[in-house]
Amino acid sequence: MPIIVGPAGLGSPAVKGLDKIKKAGLKCAEVEFTHSIYMNNKMANEIGQHAEKLGIKLSIHCPYYINLCSSKKSVRKSSKKRILDSAERGHYLNAKYIVFHSGYYGNLKKEQAYKIVKDAVLEMNKVIKKNKWKVMLCPETTGKVSQFGDLDELYKLHRQTRCAVCVDFAHMRAKYKGKIDYKHICGIMKKFKFSPLHAHFSGITWGPKGEKSHKITPINEIKELLKWLKKYKFNISLINESPNPFGDAVKTSRLLH
Ligand SMILES: [Zn+2]
Repeated sequence: MPIIVGPAGLGSPAVKGLDKIKKAGLKCAEVEFTHSIYMNNKMANEIGQHAEKLGIKLSIHCPYYINLCSSKKSVRKSSKKRILDSAERGHYLNAKYIVFHSGYYGNLKKEQAYKIVKDAVLEMNKVIKKNKWKVMLCPETTGKVSQFGDLDELYKLHRQTRCAVCVDFAHMRAKYKGKIDYKHICGIMKKFKFSPLHAHFSGITWGPKGEKSHKITPINEIKELLKWLKKYKFNISLINESPNPFGDAVKTSRLLH
């Protein structure tokens, strides 16, 4: 099936959570290392094998505390370490995409921030290659005006570093204050040279600075999103990040057929 849907988070314990995801007919899930990288390689391997047996495709969300553009060298260094530790777990989980929010512009000009993120991605790609981890770094389109990572920046990054890109539809709605241009977004996604595509969605609230908080996904927004994804015949994993990611993923998968 070209569009598959699942929740952010496996639930606890992870193996039982995966069984519940499978039972609900969902086919993907994102492992949330957002607050900590809560498993070692051995546990990652067990969870990964169970997911594979159930036919559930996994991805990883790295810790929130990442800023590749920080003015502090120690923060840039620890940010890369958090991403690479996630990538190592990802290899054992059999999770292809390692999703992260790259960081904040701070006092940097957009081009300066771009160069710093690009160098960091190239450096991390080398470590991944050296260790033969079967993963791809996957920076995400962000929701706050202060955050690096609009779709054009990430498309350029994809072309220049071969990283994947996670398109977060909620973040883009927030950053552009509700004016989400699906035609433009899908046009860029069509040019991505990795497969399947990877995306996040949910309801969202925003203010002048962009994203405020995620909320339950409105049915009309799900329908609109699915309409565009089907129109472009995308092969894509859709991860729901609302306050009820499992419920919203189930709701979405029912609307697929
Ligand atoms: Zn997201």
